[in-house]
Amino acid sequence: AAAAGDIVPGRGSTTPLHFVVVPLMAQGHMIPMVDLARLLAARGVLVTFITTPVNFARIRPIADRAAASALPIRFVQLTFPVADAGLPHGCESIDLVTSTDHFLPFMNALQLLREPLSAYLRSASDDSDHWPRPSCIVSDNLHHWTADVARALDIPRIIFHGPSCFFLLCSLLIERNRAELEAAIAEAESAGGPAATTLPGLPQPPIRISKHQVINARRSSPGWSKILDTIREAEDAADGVLVNSFAELEPCYLERFREEIKKPVWAIGPLSLYKEESEAKAARGRVSSMDNTVLFRWLDAQEAGSVVFVSFGSIARNTAGQVMELGHGLEASGRPFVWAVKEVAEARRREEEAAAPAAMLEEWLSELEKRVEGRGVVIRGWAPQALILGHAATGMFLTHCGWNSVLESVAAGVVMATWPHFADQFLNERFVVDVMGIGAAVGIDEPTIVVGVVADQHGTSSSAAEEEAAAKVRREDVERVVEELMRGGGGGGREEEAEQRRQRARDLAEKATRAMDEAQAGSSCHALNDAIHFVSN
Ligand code: UDP
Repeated sequence: AAAAGDIVPGRGSTTPLHFVVVPLMAQGHMIPMVDLARLLAARGVLVTFITTPVNFARIRPIADRAAASALPIRFVQLTFPVADAGLPHGCESIDLVTSTDHFLPFMNALQLLREPLSAYLRSASDDSDHWPRPSCIVSDNLHHWTADVARALDIPRIIFHGPSCFFLLCSLLIERNRAELEAAIAEAESAGGPAATTLPGLPQPPIRISKHQVINARRSSPGWSKILDTIREAEDAADGVLVNSFAELEPCYLERFREEIKKPVWAIGPLSLYKEESEAKAARGRVSSMDNTVLFRWLDAQEAGSVVFVSFGSIARNTAGQVMELGHGLEASGRPFVWAVKEVAEARRREEEAAAPAAMLEEWLSELEKRVEGRGVVIRGWAPQALILGHAATGMFLTHCGWNSVLESVAAGVVMATWPHFADQFLNERFVVDVMGIGAAVGIDEPTIVVGVVADQHGTSSSAAEEEAAAKVRREDVERVVEELMRGGGGGGREEEAEQRRQRARDLAEKATRAMDEAQAGSSCHALNDAIHFVSN
């Protein structure tokens, strides 16, 4: 196995390996791929990291640190021609998309990076001071066009998948059994039951899926259908798959997924456990919107395991009414909390129609802060999530179940209250609650997609009272789930159940740490070395 610091020779020569890493421009993909790039570079692999100006500005602190520690990574900023794709200026990351109508154009625009990347790789190889020619492309799965670039260079293309093997396997099974599942759901519905069924062909326990997970709405649009098919083709042609997970977390799903796709699958995470100083960890993705000294001084003063951390990732948003309802729930819980609220920060940046509800929400939040002074911390914008989760004071995480968030919580041994909003988040919830047994559901069954506005879902402004009344998750639900996880209230063995959940979470965190531990030849370190050798042989 290659030890950190070695220059790994490529293809039977002494030339070092050179990986071209192409992340999707979305925080949930960019953050783990920056960690991956650093892990590769720490093993002596030369890394060309492809990014764009807006994204580079966000990862700049990490890039500077990588340079200062002489990690062989070069960050290359390609122009992403957003205007050609009909996207607003600066719309270079999915969290900056301000209208649901822009998601498909954003996905279609990704392939506009093909020419700039090919041109860059050509010019870099003409450069007298050049690095060796690329040995492989590590591409986000959604960048299907990198298959052409790899083919033209005659090098392997390894894909990086954002979510877990559990999710990937479930998706394959849904795809394969779509007609049968639709029929089962229709039957359940006509019998007056919930529009849901159990996914066949999975290892235990049984996994329940709802109608919206089977009838993928995007499939019904020819534009989405086309791009999803193109992604699938490129995925089928890939040489191997990297997953941000670890073998001990989901052994049977990893194995089954590997069997299904008949190619190497390397579980190389949790990537958030990349070892670095807390100052650098605090800048993952973006610089924190709060003074970290103040935040961590406050956390240091809290009792171990007492704080509720609330955050919904980089994309998910809620209506103003829903945000307020959640705030009431946190207030009523009586527990200390740290709550990352993206909705106000966003609207302030955007003005336009979001201004009125944003001003109302801002005023409401300021009032709440006064009422819970000393007990509740509201972060308006980006939170240093991995650090908060890793702090001893954090006792639970109310999360939207983005895979990175789930895995970061697992890595920190923190139990979760699950509130999925869209995409893989519903299956991630099932994984947390039913498979791992380290969470409790808030109780949301239908997707929520709110983009760019903080008024109600139709974008119309309404009074605070009307909006609160329309909230899908009630303050009582928030209170209940916090209580269930933190104390296990309600009697009937609930406390014991809560303690067992916490114990399982702690055990998993230990396994996660071991998986990433070089000195103990952890499974994820081994898998990454294996992937490197796959390319070099
Ligand atoms: N994140 C963060 N601070 C925030 C919001 C998100 O550091 O305020 C990080 C989080 O730690 C995770 C990523 O952004 O690494 C979000 O990825 P995830 O898959 O959880 O959700 P997504 O944003 O893709 O929905």
